Amino acid sequence: MTPKIARFLAEHQPATPCLVLDVDRVEENFRALQRALPLARIYYAVKANPALRILQRLVGLASGFDAASWEEISACLDAGARPEAISFGNTIKKASAIQRAYERGVSLFAFDSAEELEKLARHAPGSRVYCRILVQNEGADWPLSRKFGTTVGNARTLMLRAGELGLDPYGLSFHVGSQQTTTRAYEVAIGKVAMLFTDLTEAGVNLRMMNLGGGFPKRYRDDVPEIDQFGDAIMHAMIAHFGNALPEMLIEPGRFIVGDAGLVSAEVMLVSRRDPNEPVRWVYLDVGRFGGFAETEGEAIRYRIVTPYEGSPLGPVTIAGPTCDGADILYEKANYRLPLALTSGDRVHVLSTGAYVTTYASQGFNGFAPMAEHYL
Ligand SMILES: *Cc1c(COP(=O)(O)O)cnc(C)c1O
Repeated sequence: MTPKIARFLAEHQPATPCLVLDVDRVEENFRALQRALPLARIYYAVKANPALRILQRLVGLASGFDAASWEEISACLDAGARPEAISFGNTIKKASAIQRAYERGVSLFAFDSAEELEKLARHAPGSRVYCRILVQNEGADWPLSRKFGTTVGNARTLMLRAGELGLDPYGLSFHVGSQQTTTRAYEVAIGKVAMLFTDLTEAGVNLRMMNLGGGFPKRYRDDVPEIDQFGDAIMHAMIAHFGNALPEMLIEPGRFIVGDAGLVSAEVMLVSRRDPNEPVRWVYLDVGRFGGFAETEGEAIRYRIVTPYEGSPLGPVTIAGPTCDGADILYEKANYRLPLALTSGDRVHVLSTGAYVTTYASQGFNGFAPMAEHYL
């Protein structure tokens, strides 16, 4: 919790649930990543948190933006981003969205299939395109599975085809999965993609860019390596494969930029036991899986929760949201322990919830409205 957030909570006691986010921390994170990887250009993954105040601050820092839809592109433009600073990074785009982006001056597009490449050739002629390669997501707490990316062999065919279609075969990309906790994942992915890069260059394709995606982790309940370790591992791998002929490097951090900039302030609605002899208490908050904590699916992202009773005796708990849905349980297996003194009406803070929370909230399932958002 930053001092600014603490002061806001104390002075305003905002209604719960709400996100309170310190935009200065967004800037600090941006600068820390820039220091860790000075040769890489940052394209903020807008989906992590598309709030106008965040986009505006990043525009001021000359950040680029990785957008997944026309609506996200539009949000970046409204915040003052230049179209040349926007990458349309989703490999699945509506033709109408490609066309609108192209008309507004966006000239960088991702793809991972022949079908999408044809769409780009038709609706964004001459644009720079990059092909996404499927890489291992091992070590990621929130993997992206096999939904995106293609094989090295198919990418080779498609990049050659891109030139024939009048597009500019600009680069290659990958994503090692979100909340990636190992530097090794980047090293392995760079090795795989760099080989194709060299191969295509030798085949006469004028490739200039490697997009290393996002995935950089934040500390939630458990420790993760420092960002400098990721920076060192990535530069080491890039130099090992490219020597002093380094291509342009792009990174698309989302979680790392905004994750720890904000917290969710929530109210305890009930603390109860299934049976008086049952040691595990159920703690129900006024925000749960449908209020925005979608990443607690499979208990994958384990947020830290602070209560007004820090330092007092703890006991085991299951933590759930307020809705009448059985899936609205945040943590049942992850061995959470909260103070025995915790009771209904208490205010708790779910830390580092600046990324992938506000936009994941339902429209008002069971009548619970989406959380309020305060940007400081
Ligand atoms: C979600 C996403 C990102 C951001 O991932 P983080 O793990 O939040 O850094 C970057 N690039 C693409 C293509 C994405 O889909």
